[in-house]
Amino acid sequence: KVSIFWFRRDLRLEDNTGLYHAYEQEKNVLPLFIFDRNILDELEDKKDGRVTFIHNQIKKISEDLKSFDSSLLVKYGKPLEIWQQLLEEYEVENVYTNRDYEPYAKERDEAVKKLLKSNGVQFLDFKDQVVFEKDEIQNGSGGFYKVFTPYSKVWLDKFQKSKIELLTLDGRKKNFLKTDPFDIPRLEDMGFEKSDLEIPALEIDKPLIRNYDKTRNFPAQNGTSRLGIHLRFGTISVRKLALEAVELNKTYLNELIWREFYMMILYHNTAVVDKAFKSQYDQIPWRNNEEEFEKWCEGKTGYPIVDAGMRELNQTGYMHNRVRMIVASFLTKHLLIDWRWGEAYFAKKLLDFELSSNNGGWQWAAGTGTDAQPYFRVFNPESQTEKFDKDLKYIKKWVPEFGTDKYPDPMVDHKSARLRAIDTYKTALN
Ligand code: FAD
Repeated sequence: KVSIFWFRRDLRLEDNTGLYHAYEQEKNVLPLFIFDRNILDELEDKKDGRVTFIHNQIKKISEDLKSFDSSLLVKYGKPLEIWQQLLEEYEVENVYTNRDYEPYAKERDEAVKKLLKSNGVQFLDFKDQVVFEKDEIQNGSGGFYKVFTPYSKVWLDKFQKSKIELLTLDGRKKNFLKTDPFDIPRLEDMGFEKSDLEIPALEIDKPLIRNYDKTRNFPAQNGTSRLGIHLRFGTISVRKLALEAVELNKTYLNELIWREFYMMILYHNTAVVDKAFKSQYDQIPWRNNEEEFEKWCEGKTGYPIVDAGMRELNQTGYMHNRVRMIVASFLTKHLLIDWRWGEAYFAKKLLDFELSSNNGGWQWAAGTGTDAQPYFRVFNPESQTEKFDKDLKYIKKWVPEFGTDKYPDPMVDHKSARLRAIDTYKTALN
């Protein structure tokens, strides 16, 4: 008899809510991870850095479980089919996991829950990915916030009043199933190759976070935490990070609240996945010129700050937040290309890709979202450069040919593109 803990986007042993409860409640906990073909089969890049990252983390968890005389059972396939097999292979008592709020994950979990239920097995899920989930932050009339500022106030207040304790597994209990190490499928077995993209360190850099409000807007500086990928896959506990942040820097904590705000928005408004949050914005007649889109993707627009951002993304799987805002504004306003095109490109490339934040960021830039940038405010790449990359350090790093005749002329003129954008939006929204 075993109880299974199913790892998904919570790839750590420390302060893992569902794992902790499984370990406290059950005698033979079998930890499980499934390389999900429903997700993997959709990835075009066989050297996807996120797959390599997850694979490494799986090996690490498996190694760490040795000190509990246990191991991680790793499967490759479609979750529902894998669960069917597991029910045949093991006498399963209870299944524990942490909640995941994305549309695909919710559907997957419903199906698994139903299957388990029909076999008399309970599916116990826990909050772990966020500090506050679903309906925990409500407005005065019991509804959900549509704008960030009041949401963040209630969030902060609730956070300061709650007593969060981090959860550690008691090594003496030996409640994991005792087993020899299980084999882990190799990347190649799953049709992938090792990526050589660099993964930001898993550490809370206190001096950096302490200065975050002063450094975060300058892409040439090492001024942001780079913890995005770790938050995405749960290699860091968001509770631990938030507890540090509240002491170190309120602006940093505010960014963690943005993350939860967008997760809440997606949870309650699944339609934002492919529709404007403000539905009248679905009427904008995007130009969607494919050649222009190509130039943007490749970082050959002739706007150095835009090109630097896109090249940083293409080469490293990361782009600084300030520059994400600039390139997204450029695509949607200067080129009038559908925000969904840009969103999909980011989703392919970003190591820290998070459906809710990416969608929220794109809708913000396009002016279609919750607290959006008003459509008549169009970022000027030049003045953004003047403010945030004055010495051109970031630009020169990613666009070495800038200033030579190898660098292309601007693909559109800022002034007329700006007027065209404002005019197009105005007409569509009238
Ligand atoms: P830090 O500045 O150190 O912030 C710490 C953490 O706070 C981040 O890791 C992230 O989890 C969270 N955070 C910070 N800013 C935001 C924000 N504006 N919205 C939501 N969460 C935030 N963030 C993603 O995690 N995944 C995405 O796919 C993503 N796509 C974006 C697309 C666009 C067009 C824009 C404008 C922003 C996007 N962001 C996204 C938000 C932000 O750019 C990144 O979270 C940040 O740049 C990641 O770098 P960092 O880890 O050094 O962040």
